[in-house]
Amino acid sequence: MFESLSERLESAFKQIKGEGRITELNIAATVKDIRRALIDADVNFKIAKEFTDTVKEKALGQKVLTAVSPGQLMVKVVKDELASLMGGVESELNAKGSPAIILVAGLQGSGKTTFSGKLANYLKGRKGLSPLLVADDIYRPAAIEQLKVLGSQIGVDVYSEPENKDAVEIARNAIKEARSKNKNVVIIDTAGRLAIDEAMMKEVAAIKGAVNPGEILFVVDSMTGQDAVNTAKAFNDRLDFTGVVLTKLDGDTRGGAALSIKYTVNKPIKFISSGEKMDTLDVFYPDRMAQRILG
Ligand code: GDP
Repeated sequence: MFESLSERLESAFKQIKGEGRITELNIAATVKDIRRALIDADVNFKIAKEFTDTVKEKALGQKVLTAVSPGQLMVKVVKDELASLMGGVESELNAKGSPAIILVAGLQGSGKTTFSGKLANYLKGRKGLSPLLVADDIYRPAAIEQLKVLGSQIGVDVYSEPENKDAVEIARNAIKEARSKNKNVVIIDTAGRLAIDEAMMKEVAAIKGAVNPGEILFVVDSMTGQDAVNTAKAFNDRLDFTGVVLTKLDGDTRGGAALSIKYTVNKPIKFISSGEKMDTLDVFYPDRMAQRILG
């Protein structure tokens, strides 16, 4: 993950590591290299520029602290700023409510259904939580089947109504079902499309309006770079979601989505998904991710 970005940042620090102190002059080249590395990792130009302007300002502002070397200082400033760009601190999942309702939305193929299964598996392991998965895709019978397979793998019930063509009604019925079966978390996996589509947005917005979820998680494939960020913007404009899930971080992803989404939509990344297996879900910690990027 983010290998190229990590390597590029490491090489950006090389020159400044040999300097006695940080000056306007010797920091300029480093900052330029960092900016290029970010842009090549699919970070939007404006975000990259703002980022490096802040890094420069902070590094110069701290030059009087002589306890650390210029190299160490730069690494620390960049690490802190990367964490801050990704949201600073982790953001908890809202699993409150009786039942708690979590709506999962995103494009088809983003990893929504896989994530829904992983989230159910993750929550099921937590004290007092008993999830119900809802296959609320009225267009693709295969999507219902896929969620059922995952549900049986992890031992979580899956609610579906294959004959019903009303996604809002299915969601409402699922919540009744959860109440009657003492399930206290309802995870609704909605239908996606290959591209942003008004009918899809309308449907998810209608489900949101009907069931008032405590969490609306937008799932996005991290491999899609700047497209991921644009898709996030479109979904957020329409749904005002509460958090982001980045998937496929096990692939050869460059980092742009992870680094830019929080800045663009001002919503936290809550989970990262890195594999097809049900136990490959992690809470997103911005500082740990920043540390990983810097190696
Ligand atoms: P949906 O259409 O949004 O529900 O997407 P799916 O959950 O069906 O995922 C689409 C494809 O991506 C499937 O083949 C999944 O197995 C795969 N997939 C989902 N999440 C991940 C992940 O984190 N890493 C990898 N490598 N593959 C994933």
